[in-house]
Amino acid sequence: MDKYTALERFFGYKTFRPGQEDLIDSILLGRDTLGIMPTGGGKSICFQIPALCLPGVTIVISPLVSLMKDQVSALLQNGIPAACVNQTMEREAISLTYSAAVRGEYKIIYAAPERLSSRRFLEMCSLLNVSLVCVDEAHCVSQWGHDFRPSYLEIKDFIRSFEKRPVVCAFTATATERVRTDIEKLLELKRPFVSVLGFDRPNLFFEVKKPVNKYSELKRLLDLFSGKSGIIYCATRKKTDELFDLLSLENYNVTRYHAGLSREERRRNQELFASDVRDIVVATNAFGMGIDKSNVSFVIHYNMPGDLESYYQEAGRAGRDGAKAYCILLYSGEDIAVQRYFIDNSNENKELSQTELLNLRRRKLKKLGTMIEYCECKNCLREFMLSYFGERAPVRCENCSSCVGEIRSGDITVEAQKILSCVSRVKEKESAAVVAKILKGERTEHIIKMKYDVLSTFSLLCEKSVAEIEGLIEYLLSVSCLKEDENGFLHLTPKARGILFRSVKIRRKIENPKGNEATDESLFLALQKLRKEIAKKESVPPFTVFTDATLHAMAKSKPQSREELLVVPGVALVKEKKYGAAFLKLIAEKIENGGK
Ligand code: ADP
Ligand code: MG
Repeated sequence: MDKYTALERFFGYKTFRPGQEDLIDSILLGRDTLGIMPTGGGKSICFQIPALCLPGVTIVISPLVSLMKDQVSALLQNGIPAACVNQTMEREAISLTYSAAVRGEYKIIYAAPERLSSRRFLEMCSLLNVSLVCVDEAHCVSQWGHDFRPSYLEIKDFIRSFEKRPVVCAFTATATERVRTDIEKLLELKRPFVSVLGFDRPNLFFEVKKPVNKYSELKRLLDLFSGKSGIIYCATRKKTDELFDLLSLENYNVTRYHAGLSREERRRNQELFASDVRDIVVATNAFGMGIDKSNVSFVIHYNMPGDLESYYQEAGRAGRDGAKAYCILLYSGEDIAVQRYFIDNSNENKELSQTELLNLRRRKLKKLGTMIEYCECKNCLREFMLSYFGERAPVRCENCSSCVGEIRSGDITVEAQKILSCVSRVKEKESAAVVAKILKGERTEHIIKMKYDVLSTFSLLCEKSVAEIEGLIEYLLSVSCLKEDENGFLHLTPKARGILFRSVKIRRKIENPKGNEATDESLFLALQKLRKEIAKKESVPPFTVFTDATLHAMAKSKPQSREELLVVPGVALVKEKKYGAAFLKLIAEKIENGGK
C-alpha cells in the first residue's frame, strides 16, 4: 500500500501536514529517522503510516500506559490491527497478545520500555518480522529532557538484539540541541535523517491578563468556554486543591490532578477528563505527558509558570486536533514570588557542585525574567515566543490578545430567560423543536390545540429564526441550564433557576475575528452530544470516535450522503461504516427542522 492510500483509507485525510511526508519517506527508504515536531503537529501518523506500508510488524515504545491505550484504541477505531502490552494487564492477557502477535494478527504493537527487559517479550519479537522500531516521546532517554526514564536507556540493547536490525525512528516535541544529540547517541541511531519542524501553532490564540480578581476572571472565562474541554494549571498543589474545591462548590464540571493524590485517584481523574465526563481539570504541571486528548479547547494558567519553555508546552496541550483553541495566562505579582521561592528552594540535583548550583540558579532566574517579559509584553505574543525559540515570525500574528484584543463574548442572559420561562410555561412537557416554534410565534396545529399561542412567551423571540432559537436551546442544554428527558421534553435545572430568579448572567463565546469560519455551532453541539453517547456505549474516549476538528468540518459542510461524509477530513472508511449512518441521520434531521 502506498502512503497516500494509507492516509486516506485509514485516517480519512487527503493531504499531509508540513514535514510529515519527508519523515515518512525517509523511514520507507529504510533510513533511521528523528522527527522533532511540536505537540499536536501530527507525529503519530509519521510512524503509523510506514507501519502500514512496510511488511511485517512495527514495535512502538511509548512511556505511559494511558498514552498507549488511547493510541491503540484510536488505531482500532480506524480498522488498523494494533495491540499493546503493559504492566497493568493480567499475565494471561499478555500471553494472549503475544500468541496473537506471533500468528500475525497485528501490524503495530505498543510496548512500555519496561517490557524490553522481559524475556518473553524478546522471545516474541524474535518470532516476528519486525521491520520498524519507533521510539515515541524520545526525549525520555535524555537526562536533559524533562521526563527522563532510565528504562529508555535499554532501548539500544533491544535494537541490538535483533538478528536483522530494523529501521529505527524516534519522535519528540523537545527541540533543544542537547536532547537531540542525546537521542541520536543513546538510541544509537545510524546516520539519521533529522527533521525539526516549525514551532508555531497557528490555531492557538494567546492571551495574557493581569486581572484585579483572578478568581472572578477565571469564572468569566469558564462561562465563555462552557461545555468545552479545558485545563487549568496552578503553580502549587495547594492552589490546585483550593481552586478545585471552589469550582466544585459552584457546580463547575471539574476534576483535579497533582502528584499528591493517590495513584488510583490520579488515574481515575485523568480518565474522567479523557472521556469527557468532566469538562475541566485543575492541575499542577504533573498533568500533561499522559494526555493525548486532542479536543482540549482551552488551557488557562491560573499562575505564571517558571519559564517560557514550560508555558509553551503546557499551553500547547490545547487544540491538538487543529481546531481553534485558547491559551490564557492570568498573571499577578505574587506569581513571581512563588517562582522565586521554587528556584531558591529546589532540592534537585544533589550531586551538583556549589558553582554548578549557582550557575543553574542564575540560568533559572534568567528564564524567569523572560517569562515575566512575556507577561508584560505589549507587542505580538506569538512573535515574542517564536523568536525566543529561535524562529522568525511576522511582527503581528493577528491571533493573540496584543494583536486583536481579548476574547469577546456575548451576553445572552435575556434570550436565555425568554427560553427558560417558555419551558416553564409549557410545564416542562415539550421538546426543543416545539419550544423554538412557540418562541418564534408559529401557529402549528399542536400549538393552537394546546393554546400555547396565548402564552406570554409566545413569539417572544420572533426576530430570530427557528434554527437560531434551537441553537440557543442546544447551547443551554450543553451548559446544563436545561436537560432533556427520555421523551425529549425540556426541563429546567438549578442553574436555570439562577438565571430566571436570581439574575445570574450567562454569556456565550463569540469567536475571535480570526476564528474558524462561523461553523454551525448548534449542529456542532448536537454532533458532539451524539459522539459522547457513542463513546459511552462503546467505552472508548470520545475523540477516538471523531475529533473536534472533524465535527467542526461536518457541521460546516453538512454532508448528506456517505460520499459527502467521506470527504470530511478525519472520516476514514472504517469509521464511516461504523458511525456514518448515525451522524448522517442527525445532520439530516437538523437540516430538516431548521434550514441550513
Ligand atoms: P503529536 O503526537 O505530534 O502531538 P498527534 O499525532 O497526536 O500529534 O496528532 C494530533 C492530531 O492531528 C490528531 O488528531 C491527528 O488525527 C491530526 N492529524 C495528524 N495528521 C494530520 C493530517 N495530515 N491532516 C489532518 N489532521 C492530521
Ligand atoms: Mg504523540
